[in-house]
Amino acid sequence: MFTLHASFLKLTVFKLKEPPMEIEEFRKEAHKIVDWMADYLKNVENYPVRSQLKPGDIMDKLPVSAPKKGEAIADIFKDFQDIIMPGITHWQHPKFFAFFPGNSSPASLLAEMLTATLGSQCMMWETSPAATELEIRVLEWLRDALSLPNNFTGVIQDTASSATFCAILVARERITNWNVNLKGLGPNYKLTYYTSSEAHSSVEKAVKMAGIGVENLRLIPVDGAQSMDVDALKNAIKKDMANGFTPACVVASIGATGAGGTDSVQGIGEVCLANNIYFHVDAAWAGSALILPEYQHLIEGIEAVDSFVFNPHKWLLTNFDCTAHFIKNPNELKRTLTILPEYLKTREGDKVTDFRDWGIQLGRRNRALKLWFVIRSYGIEGLQNFLRNHINWSSELSVVIDKTDDFEIITNPNFSLFTFRYKPEGENDLDALNDRLIEAINDDGRTYLTRTKVDGKLVIRFQVGSTHTSRQHVMDAWDVIKEIACEV
Ligand code: PLP
Repeated sequence: MFTLHASFLKLTVFKLKEPPMEIEEFRKEAHKIVDWMADYLKNVENYPVRSQLKPGDIMDKLPVSAPKKGEAIADIFKDFQDIIMPGITHWQHPKFFAFFPGNSSPASLLAEMLTATLGSQCMMWETSPAATELEIRVLEWLRDALSLPNNFTGVIQDTASSATFCAILVARERITNWNVNLKGLGPNYKLTYYTSSEAHSSVEKAVKMAGIGVENLRLIPVDGAQSMDVDALKNAIKKDMANGFTPACVVASIGATGAGGTDSVQGIGEVCLANNIYFHVDAAWAGSALILPEYQHLIEGIEAVDSFVFNPHKWLLTNFDCTAHFIKNPNELKRTLTILPEYLKTREGDKVTDFRDWGIQLGRRNRALKLWFVIRSYGIEGLQNFLRNHINWSSELSVVIDKTDDFEIITNPNFSLFTFRYKPEGENDLDALNDRLIEAINDDGRTYLTRTKVDGKLVIRFQVGSTHTSRQHVMDAWDVIKEIACEV
């Protein structure tokens, strides 16, 4: 029996590459790739910001089946340059003013290289104690930098969508005394959730995933400043209670996606406290700006908030993915998500923090490392200067646009985001015109802008937030917009 087993093992040992050779090849190629990375960042401005390819262009260049034999990294890298790069939209381009930013920075990149090299799976304290303890500490730094209450505890999630999904689940469990986890939602519970008509789609998605049903998500209207109408919220809650519903959760926005509207944390918090409702704040993009004392009035009343999320991977120089999720009562989150199969039990048990119980996923990357590199490398003051520049340049450009004939500002800057549109005299269909203008600008490639609707009007969003953007880039983009507007 033994001999059979041994010979079987012998037969199944296949040679891949000699390990020392593979490591030396890695060293050689890594040096080349790091050089390429530095050159890319230096010259990223020379690429069209939005990829100029058509659907299927990349697919046509990719073989339909995987190679049978391994290929040299040098050959793969050449194809990366020739095939993949033309299909990249350059989020690190200094004239990227679309969506929200997706920051990267040299400090963050270096940490990402280390994270990838270590390849640790940081689901529990035991699987990398440094990752867990660093995560706890850097989130305390961030919490204090944002002036969040010191009874908030932080965890890093992949995305704001995941953090909001956690909040929606905890709200469901808290109001049903963790019964839904046990028995399912069933007809006994008629839960209602509330957010503004400006809230990000991740709220609706989370409500769907949690089994609440989108018909039970109330989209509360906003006022002229894109801020949730708190009286309308109160009325909706009252009406629902009168109709036998149980209000479970309100999600407020700080810096909503369309035009950057911000809800009243104080006003909504009072409503939530009075009605025993879970209160979650989505500050995915603008939360970074709360490291500026001049914005901290926006979180007056934060004591009433149960959880708060923002993305350092948007506007705080940290590579995707890195989402800071702060929770007032982590035990509720853990009680909602905990599972403990035999194979995950460890000697330390409850004596340590196991972040596997704090989010949707089990496996976790060491995301704290890049945040640690970023905060140490820039310092809080460096990060504040980074944000203040963007906010100032956005404000400066909005004033210029406001004074320019044939253009109008639709919403003034919220943080570093404003909206505007082209409105030449005699033009009737402004929505169609502005739509054509956005497409022409993006096809031109020198800058990249996206659209939204404000009060039913199609408008152009302009947000300043990229790592390498200077005041000159902002002003140059405006010249491009004016030039193309004359042509559409
Ligand atoms: N919330 C807001 C306000 C957003 O603007 C976004 C994305 O832009 C999200 C949530 C979703 O972010 P994520 O991609 O991290 O899930």
